[in-house]
Amino acid sequence: MLSAEEPTTTIGTTHNIATSLTPTAPGPKLTRPQKCYLCHTLIANSKSICSQCRAVVYCSRDCQISDWKSGGPRIENGRPVYFTPHKVICPKLKQWMEREKENVLLREYFPWLKGTGGGGQPFPLVETLRESGVEVEGTGREKGYWNVTAHVCSHELSFRQLVEKKRRELLEDGRDGGEAEKIVEKEVGVYQPGLMLLGEQFPGDEAWGLEEGLFPHLPDSDGIKAVPNPLDGTLIASWQQYYEWRNIPPRSIAVMLLHMPLTIYRMVTKFPHLLADTSEPLNIHLLGPERELDIVPLFAELLFLLPHHNINITMIGPTAFKLRQSLREMETAKPALLTKYPLFTYTHPTTPSRKINIHIDTTTEFYQNHPTFTNPSPSTHPSIVCALNAGLSTYPTWPEILTHCLTQQIPFACTEYCEQSVEYYYGRVIIPVLNEHNQKARGRRMGLDDVRTEFNAFRQPGAKGNEFTRCPDHVDGFLTWFWSGP
Ligand SMILES: [Zn+2]
Ligand SMILES: [Zn+2]
Repeated sequence: MLSAEEPTTTIGTTHNIATSLTPTAPGPKLTRPQKCYLCHTLIANSKSICSQCRAVVYCSRDCQISDWKSGGPRIENGRPVYFTPHKVICPKLKQWMEREKENVLLREYFPWLKGTGGGGQPFPLVETLRESGVEVEGTGREKGYWNVTAHVCSHELSFRQLVEKKRRELLEDGRDGGEAEKIVEKEVGVYQPGLMLLGEQFPGDEAWGLEEGLFPHLPDSDGIKAVPNPLDGTLIASWQQYYEWRNIPPRSIAVMLLHMPLTIYRMVTKFPHLLADTSEPLNIHLLGPERELDIVPLFAELLFLLPHHNINITMIGPTAFKLRQSLREMETAKPALLTKYPLFTYTHPTTPSRKINIHIDTTTEFYQNHPTFTNPSPSTHPSIVCALNAGLSTYPTWPEILTHCLTQQIPFACTEYCEQSVEYYYGRVIIPVLNEHNQKARGRRMGLDDVRTEFNAFRQPGAKGNEFTRCPDHVDGFLTWFWSGP
C-alpha cells in the first residue's frame, strides 16, 4: 500500500551529504541518454548517481548537492514548479528500486532479456524482434500483431517523439514546413493502432510472426491440459507458470504481447465475487484501447484462463472511435472487421456453450457518453471496468469515471507504467474521488486502504525506459484496483 502523503522520513542532513554523495564512484554507464534529475539536461553519461537510492543521476555534483538540500523551485514552461528535496524522497525511491530484484527473476527465466540490464535501462524490443525473425519494417498492417511503426516501437520512443525528431531534422536541413510534413508522413508512416480492423478478416497464427510452438495456439478441437481452476484458487501467478501450462519455451517472446490479456486476467481475479458467480457472463468494459486493437484474437486466451464463464469484452475509447472515421474516409467501401458485431467470437473447443465475444463500441468516443454510464442501472452494469496503462493523473476524464465506478459499486482496475505515477495518482486523483464518493455514499465509505496496488506479475518484461529515474518502469507495470461493494 502506498501512502498518498509526502514521505516524511528524512535521512539526509547536511552532515550526511558526504556519505550520500560518492565523488569517487562514477555514475552508471547509460545505454541511452537520461536526464539530470534536477536540471533535466540530457546526459549521455552521468557524472553522479545518488548512492543511497541509485535511482537518479545528475549532470554534475553541483546539481546533486543542490537537489539533495533543497530540490526546486525551477522554472518550467514559464512557471515555477516546486520539487521536494531529494533527501526527503530518496528513501521512497530506494524502496521502489527494490522491485528490481523481481525483474532479476524475469531476466533469469527469459534468456533474451539477459544483458538488458536493470535500473531503468530500456529493453531494445525492436532488436529482439529482429533477432527472433519478426518482421519489423513496413507501414503497419503487414506486421500482424506486432503493429509498430517502421524502425520504432511505440514502447521505446513515442510516435509523437519520432515525428518531432524527423520534422526537426528536416527543418534543420533547410526544408520548408509543408515539404517536411509530407516527408514525415511518407517515411515515418502513421502508426494507428487497430489497422487490422480495417481489413476484411482476422489473420491466423501467421500474425504472430513466430515459428510454431513459440506462441499459444488456439486449439480447434482439443482442450488445453491442466486448465487452471480459479474457483478453487488455482490461479496462474507468474509468466513462468503460464509458459509451462501453455507449453511455450522461455525463448519465446510471445510475452511481449500476452501481457495485455494476462493483465486483464489478473485484474478479474482480484475480485473473487466475480469468479464465484458462474451463472452470469463476465462483462468487461475495457477503456481507452490502443495496442489492444492490434491483438484482438489474443484475448481469447481469457476463455481458458477463466474457464467457468462466458466472457464479453467491450472496448470503448477515442482510438476505436477514430478508426470508425478512418473507415468512413476509405475510398473503397470494403467490408471491414470493424463493422462486425461482435467483432470477434471464439467458442471453447470442448465446451461449446462457453464463448468469448469481443465488441468495439465505435459510437462513443468517451465512456461518459456510453448508455451504461448516462443511465446506470444494476442490471446493465459491467462486471468490471478496466484500462491498461491508464494514465490516471494524465487524462482529465478519469476522476468522473472513477467516481462513477465507486458510486455504482462497479469493480475498477487499471495499470500504470511506474510507481511514481501511482503515487502521483493517489495524491492528485484518488483522494478527491474518495472524498466525493464518501460525501454521497449510500453504500460503504472508502478509505485509502481500499485502493490496492501491486507490481503486476504480468507486466511486459524489460524496462520501458524512463528519462528521469531508474526505478522499474514497464508497460502494464503496476496494477491498482478497488471496489466499493460490500
Ligand atoms: Zn543537472
Ligand atoms: Zn537518492
